[in-house]
Amino acid sequence: MIRRTALLIVVVAIAAACSSADEPAATDAVPAESTQPAPATTAEPSPTTTTAASAATEPAEIEDLLGVGDSLYPTLGNRGYDADHYTIDLTFDPEPNTINALVEIEATATLAIQSFSLDFIGFETTRVTVDDVEVDFERRDNKLIVHSPTVIPAGEAFTVAVAYEGTPTPMRSEALPFTGGWLTDSKGVSYVIAEPDGARTWYPVNDHPTDKATYTFMITVPDPLIAAANGTLVETITDLGWATWVWESAEPMASYLATVIVGDRDIVEDTASTSLAGIPVRNVLPDDLSEASLEVLAKHGEMIAFFETIYGPYPFAAYGIAVVDDFDAALENQTLSIFGRFFVDIPQFFEIVMVHELAHQWFGNSVTPADWGDIWLNEGFATYAEWLWIEHTAGEAAMLSQIAVERDRMAVSALPPPGSPPSDDLFNASVYIRGGLVLHALRVEVGDEAFFAIVREYADTYRNDVVTTNDFITLAESISGQDLDDLFDKWLYGEDVPELPRQGANS
Ligand SMILES: [Zn+2]
Repeated sequence: MIRRTALLIVVVAIAAACSSADEPAATDAVPAESTQPAPATTAEPSPTTTTAASAATEPAEIEDLLGVGDSLYPTLGNRGYDADHYTIDLTFDPEPNTINALVEIEATATLAIQSFSLDFIGFETTRVTVDDVEVDFERRDNKLIVHSPTVIPAGEAFTVAVAYEGTPTPMRSEALPFTGGWLTDSKGVSYVIAEPDGARTWYPVNDHPTDKATYTFMITVPDPLIAAANGTLVETITDLGWATWVWESAEPMASYLATVIVGDRDIVEDTASTSLAGIPVRNVLPDDLSEASLEVLAKHGEMIAFFETIYGPYPFAAYGIAVVDDFDAALENQTLSIFGRFFVDIPQFFEIVMVHELAHQWFGNSVTPADWGDIWLNEGFATYAEWLWIEHTAGEAAMLSQIAVERDRMAVSALPPPGSPPSDDLFNASVYIRGGLVLHALRVEVGDEAFFAIVREYADTYRNDVVTTNDFITLAESISGQDLDDLFDKWLYGEDVPELPRQGANS
């Protein structure tokens, strides 16, 4: 686990690393009260799965569906369907630390399927339905296997609903030496840090970025705690000492970016930033932030306006951050980044990490790598955004000086090149810093005009979509009219860190 001291020594890029957390407090499991009952079932098979065509269709074997084929984490997800919309109806009682939930997933089969899987760990699954018909299920490793009584033909829409209860259990991802998933800080605030594969710790999910979906969150918590999630707050319904917070995330979202934060927090509108940014900016805050921190926090409007001039329109309906204790990093959850208090309390750090997580809303959240091996497309772009902000606020010389220091640090680091991250150290500093240097080298090579056209076109072309490194290279070559294979080969995949290109050498 990277501790605060390590973060301080390694300065900005690691400080902006996207996942780390302290161990949450362990609590005993006590079942919570039931959420809304599942729909009544009948013995009849679903009408959508009884056609003559489906009877003739051979379903894919479950073993062939497990995993979408990610190069680093091949078992993540299921290739037999696309999730379209998740409705997460979840009651959380912090005192016994229990969740009782019903998650409904509207999906479309991409192959003929009968048994299929969801990524899911922990909890007791109490009931599963497919198109309102109760079905058999089993747990296998990190999967919940659902057995539909009939074949779901390719192209057919269906709904799977899973009811479950129990105490959320954090997990240690192979990707990171940190604990992630559903966490609770020492002040009793619970929150989700799921990159890359922790979403399964709190809801059943097709957990791979290639399967983005929209979300409705209905989070019920004891009054007067608040529950915030991604997107826009639609309504709050109070009932007998409980409140249900309904949040709608209308833009497609990768599962690792779905989050919830529950606790003694205020949802604070930033009216000045909202006015500058043209979208609602709201933050989920403790009531004891310093004036200095609040002053930095108020820069979101200015930052969004600045990056819109470079990347094009901000991609989502809202933005803001949530602040939690005992978390040594920050994560760019879609429309609601989560920040460890540690960063927020150090204004210089806070500003640059704000830039980093904000830039991820374009790069990572809207434009999302189709494979975890392309993580530099997230972290390199977010790191380069930090340098663009330094250029904007402190001048070109300050930016170039920062880049030179970072390049030299990479040259002696012995880290793998950013295009080939190891599965057990996905967020190593190379994907951040050398990833950012890839973009700097590209900018020097093609010149500012082509570079900023490439970045803007990339954000526009792949908005709300997934992308590969090759897609980016193809687009860069097309806009610049240059063959860039050598540049990307040596900066992305070469063993040695290249010398920085001389500014102006190619313009
Ligand atoms: Zn990042």
